[in-house]
Amino acid sequence: MDRVYRVKQDREIFHAVERDGELRRASGDLFAGLSIGAPVRGGLNAVTVLPPVTPSKIVCVGLNYKDHAAEQGKPLPAEPLIFIKPSTAVIGPGDPILLPPGVGRVDYEAELGVVIGRRAHRVKKAQAWDHIAGLICVNDVTARDLQKKEGSYTRCKGFDTFAPIGPCVATNLNGEPRAVEGWVNGQRRQSSTTAHLIFSIEYIVEFITFVMTLEPGDIIATGTPAGIGPLTPGDTVTVKVEGVGELTNPVQNES
Ligand code: MG
Repeated sequence: MDRVYRVKQDREIFHAVERDGELRRASGDLFAGLSIGAPVRGGLNAVTVLPPVTPSKIVCVGLNYKDHAAEQGKPLPAEPLIFIKPSTAVIGPGDPILLPPGVGRVDYEAELGVVIGRRAHRVKKAQAWDHIAGLICVNDVTARDLQKKEGSYTRCKGFDTFAPIGPCVATNLNGEPRAVEGWVNGQRRQSSTTAHLIFSIEYIVEFITFVMTLEPGDIIATGTPAGIGPLTPGDTVTVKVEGVGELTNPVQNES
């Protein structure tokens, strides 16, 4: 497994790969194949970590864990409920989640994300992993009061900064169960595993690509488990996905 980052050092932006604990420069294309070069001076502590991909869209699955459906008081869905977060909502690790004025409660949602590696249209379950570049942590930040009021997800999920992704794309992984956790201020609030997904990664790829073409770099956010809750200014929120990484963002009021 490699962890692929996009980083900035001395005003230069480049990909870097963490392998066996060492960060090395990478050239070429993340989706066509990277070649590994020299070690990055100072390693991860000496670079700014950027969002590793620039998705044209993030397609999210709502209510994909039984326990989260129960805590929202909603029946289990018969088929996936999907919605889109705009590319303009994307931020990287360490970037602040900005709470817009007057929208009420804003929640974290820790999720496993799937990064598409090959253009995917009408892909069958059995071929799903041929189209996946790797896995990523996603925080599906949600203005909960707006969601309850409107029913539509476009506004409540679509504010700028409401799609933290990163810190890396973990490649050469498969669909084996992995832990998904949400932490706020050092306390674990969400703890589950993708073994409890209602709809599998493979099925979701088939379902979504029947509707729309997914491009390299697009992300599927696979849903959040129970334990969601509100964010307040000054909080620090972390999404942890086992074997993938940890994505941490501060929370502040939009000024
Ligand atoms: Mg979600």
